[in-house]
Amino acid sequence: SIRSVAVIGSGLAGLTAAILLGQLGHSVTVFEKSRGPGGRMASKRVGSGSADVGAQYFTARNREFLSFLQRWAGSDAFLEWPARFRFQDDTLNWQPFPEEKRYVGVPRMTAITRALSAHVDVTAQVRIERLERSGNQWQLVCTEGLNHGVFDQVIITAPPAQAQELLLASQLDGLAEELEKPVDQILPCWAVAAHYSEPPEVDADAMRPHSEVLYWVANNSSKPGRDDSGQWWVLHATPEWTKAHVDAEPGYVSNALVGEFAALTGADARPDETVAHRWLYARSAWSSQPGYRYDAENGVGLAGDWLAGGRVEGAWESATRLVAAIR
Ligand code: FAD
Repeated sequence: SIRSVAVIGSGLAGLTAAILLGQLGHSVTVFEKSRGPGGRMASKRVGSGSADVGAQYFTARNREFLSFLQRWAGSDAFLEWPARFRFQDDTLNWQPFPEEKRYVGVPRMTAITRALSAHVDVTAQVRIERLERSGNQWQLVCTEGLNHGVFDQVIITAPPAQAQELLLASQLDGLAEELEKPVDQILPCWAVAAHYSEPPEVDADAMRPHSEVLYWVANNSSKPGRDDSGQWWVLHATPEWTKAHVDAEPGYVSNALVGEFAALTGADARPDETVAHRWLYARSAWSSQPGYRYDAENGVGLAGDWLAGGRVEGAWESATRLVAAIR
């Protein structure tokens, strides 16, 4: 039967769920607390372009993920990133990443979620605070205290800590309790985008160093379709360093990551502009991955990367599996 469904969150999981449910004929509304869609597939405007400060690239090990993107985002929205990927092993030698196709949004990561969002009805800048029972349905209430309609089913795609908050405020304590472990195992990440007019001399485009400070370093300008003058590099701190500096000033964080990057590469180029972004919920280290969660009695489902591998492809996988289960 045709149902009205609310999807909370317009990251890849939320948009995927909304598109697939819409295709089945259901009436779907997506609610997003931020100004635009995308969630952690995020790009920040910097200089005259943008830098991907969240997800760096994604895989499509499941061919159906690629077909989904081609059909709904269009083949213009993403391209393979044929970069030189290196990681530093325990003996500090640099090794190539395993061969695999790695994709990025073009001209920025958010191009994908922007294109997907055109197929669904997204209400942005509304943070859902709680679900209230209304007969057999759920009324959605935002943090401004406004009602946003009644729905037969609700799908929550927020990261575990935010999902748990929402469930507790909705008296869905059983489901909230199941989120203890995933909430405990969220890894934060400080991200810095740094602009170099004089490109640093580095013989790789993307690196995972053996470092206590830096988890990941990439030349964002080496991604296809970027049209930067000079180079924008994106630096991600390790979860440990981020936890220890979670309340540090952005300027302090930028200096620390840029300094470590210089030490790592021996390059003496200095950036002329930096932008820092703090992710409190970047990735999930939760090892149990049920794929999705559905509470049939209450008509409340959970989907998101943290339920299926903690990556972009997992977010899609999770939403796809949840929709297949509830149809
Ligand atoms: P999200 O993208 O987090 O979407 C959830 C959405 O819900 C958000 O838009 C949020 O604003 C919204 N929301 C939350 N609460 C509410 C509420 N109460 N009301 C309304 N809206 C709400 N993955 C890879 O595959 N490769 C990588 O290289 C990679 N690198 C990463 C680097 C960083 C720094 C980060 C942060 C992530 C990285 N990831 C990477 C992970 C990838 O970004 C995520 O797996 C994926 O984007 C998650 O999608 P999602 O839809 O599950 O969640």
